Amino acid sequence: MRQAKITAYAKINLVLDVLRKREDGYHEVAMVMQAVDLSDTIRLKEADRNWITTNNRHIPMNMNNLAMRAVTLMQREFPGKVPKIEVSLEKHIPVSAGMAGGSTDCAGVMLGINKMCNLDLTRKELELLAAQLGSDIPFCIGGPTALATGRGEIIEPLPDCPELHLVIVKPPFGISTPKVYGNLRADEIVEHPDVQACIRGLEAKDKQRILDAMGNVLEESTFELQPKVKTIKNGMSACGAKHVLMSGSGPTVFAAFAEKAEAEVYYNQLKPQYPGAILTRTVNKEQLEERVDLYDQRT
Ligand code: ATP
Repeated sequence: MRQAKITAYAKINLVLDVLRKREDGYHEVAMVMQAVDLSDTIRLKEADRNWITTNNRHIPMNMNNLAMRAVTLMQREFPGKVPKIEVSLEKHIPVSAGMAGGSTDCAGVMLGINKMCNLDLTRKELELLAAQLGSDIPFCIGGPTALATGRGEIIEPLPDCPELHLVIVKPPFGISTPKVYGNLRADEIVEHPDVQACIRGLEAKDKQRILDAMGNVLEESTFELQPKVKTIKNGMSACGAKHVLMSGSGPTVFAAFAEKAEAEVYYNQLKPQYPGAILTRTVNKEQLEERVDLYDQRT
């Protein structure tokens, strides 16, 4: 059997709105999700037992790793077709950052197994399977730009985002997504971002309209739990960025720019204050379609 190498991209939320708390305890959301050019590298090969190696000490190195949950799911769903697999996971996406790091690894393994084992599942079929493992995973199967509704698992593709340039700051602490939602008073949200305005901006390929529509209703909840995130957002704005937003439930904060040159100048200004800042850009459909690479197993 051939081996697979997968580039698993992180995401940001251009818009994150919470509509209400549902009876089942989840929140009804409307999010414009966007894949970004910051990725983990995953290698899959047939082995005599399931196991994982990774360069990151802060994530589980066992079957609880989301990459391994994907292996188990695919083996259970397609008995006899999916062998035991060794996963090598090279992490670059910050952990517990609000950038779907674990979800994209999980999606990447599912896409890799689909190709490596000739399962021929469609993207929709993979998205439905992926929803069993987590709300952000269906988006990570599809992308690069999509509207996510329900609890985040219902995905509708949107027109590709024209290339935006991003400067990302991940503070040296994580934040628990359930705590951020738990602290949110959904019925008291006064200002909802305009999801439709963002979609119209994407349809028109109008960078300025997309940037102007950015918003995230989880910011206040995260700021209450971890005021340092607000300090970072304010510091990033003060450094000269007009469009600064927290991603997902945080604590990552990003500044977005229409032009690469603007982002580069800003990055160089910000770097002394935030040495870990990352300069990147949005991912388009062509780049995403080349995520999975099959190659021959060396002896
Ligand atoms: P999201 O944006 O989907 O809410 P996140 O970016 O905030 O996710 P992750 O980096 O996915 O957070 O990590 C969340 C938790 O998942 C951590 O406690 C981490 O230990 C665990 N985890 C399990 N597998 C992985 C993986 N492959 N990569 C990163 N974290 C993983």
